[in-house]
Amino acid sequence: MAEYDVLIIGAGASGLAAAAAALKQGRRVAILERNDEPARKIRATGNGRCNYSNVDAPKSAEVVDRLRRLAGIEPAVEEGRIYPRSFEASTVAEALAAACSGADLILNARAVSAQKDGDVFTVKTEDGRTFVSRALILACGGKAGIQYGCTGDGYKLAESFGHSMEKPIPALDAMVCPEDLEALHGVRAQARASLNMESGIGCGSEFCSIYASKGPEGRSDYQPPAFPVSEQGEVQFTRNGISGIPVMDLSRYLRLMPGTVYTLSLDFFPELSDEELERLLDERERRFGSGIKGLLPEKLAEYIEEPGKGRWAKDLCFIITGTRGWKNAQATCGGVPLSEVDPDSFESALCKGLYITGELLDYDGPCGGYNLNWAFRSGLAAGNCAGKDC
Ligand SMILES: Cc1cc2nc3c(=O)[nH]c(=O)nc-3n(C[C@H](O)[C@H](O)[C@H](O)COP(=O)(O)OP(=O)(O)OC[C@H]3O[C@@H](n4cnc5c(N)ncnc54)[C@H](O)[C@@H]3O)c2cc1C
Repeated sequence: MAEYDVLIIGAGASGLAAAAAALKQGRRVAILERNDEPARKIRATGNGRCNYSNVDAPKSAEVVDRLRRLAGIEPAVEEGRIYPRSFEASTVAEALAAACSGADLILNARAVSAQKDGDVFTVKTEDGRTFVSRALILACGGKAGIQYGCTGDGYKLAESFGHSMEKPIPALDAMVCPEDLEALHGVRAQARASLNMESGIGCGSEFCSIYASKGPEGRSDYQPPAFPVSEQGEVQFTRNGISGIPVMDLSRYLRLMPGTVYTLSLDFFPELSDEELERLLDERERRFGSGIKGLLPEKLAEYIEEPGKGRWAKDLCFIITGTRGWKNAQATCGGVPLSEVDPDSFESALCKGLYITGELLDYDGPCGGYNLNWAFRSGLAAGNCAGKDC
């Protein structure tokens, strides 16, 4: 039976950051990872570039500085988004793994149970191995990007210590429509996208404030805007849905429940009023015979002008039936409520010596580096504190 000061379940972003911070305190550290390599998801982040923080993310400067000092990750900023100087995600994965070289990294080790007896945690793996430690960090992620190793094990482990759970829901993904969008497949255009919830339940109601209660920092205590919620940027059409950063960000507000209908309205001319656009189109029609053609990508202009459909470029509306699911989602809404961990150390309020980090917590941010910033921030804080407390 192997004994450690700090045992970490999950060699992802928050687990590796926690291990590096605990090692810095001179502790004996082990990381259990169910995959046959660490940091598999990190390598896929930011389209292979790893957008690991954002200048506007909470405690961003602190996180970036800590990663630079612990692992030699040098930042580069592009439109507020922070990447490694190499713009390669593998740099971050390898630098973190190197910073954890003093820890025992135990691969192909899926933790299936954890318990505390007296001051000691005991963790068992699927293949029957047992590990013992004085501090335990649950860094097993949520369920987004399920193919990278996160299948929701962390929820069961946290629940076994008495933690409650906000229902996990896939977020930061394209939205799916019942309509056949073959005619628009591949089209990209700038738009203001507005998500609306149309149901018997009025917006601004208790229902809305519970289910749309995630702000720019993913905090549950954020006061939500009433529907519609809007984001602006480039949208992209697929055969059966709509993607692009504004749509992915809006997917965090989707809570499909019986009796609710969500619609996504796209305004391709947010800078003009309805009347101004009508005037512009009339004039273009009169002088050049072109109307909306030439103002939008051709396929999109043709779709909007399809006879008999009554479509309007300032309110092109689609029914939304959900997101594509866990494989394509980049974040998880839901998880262990933030109220159940200390906001600075991420120690469990229910079990001393237990820490919970990263996506396993009920935190999700928009695209742009907020989620990795959170994973690193919580991992560093937990590793630091667990290392000091042992
Ligand atoms: C395709 C994609 C792109 C993304 N791009 C970005 C981006 O550019 N910027 C950004 O901010 N965020 C991005 N994200 C989100 C970001 O990757 C996550 O928020 C972050 O990785 C969460 O860190 P974590 O440590 O909580 O979990 P993870 O990084 O998911 O790590 C959890 C680890 O625990 C392991 N594990 C799970 N269960 C067990 C078990 N029972 N026993 C042992 N090990 C276990 C898993 O195999 C995994 O290695 C992206 C996500 C995806 C899917």
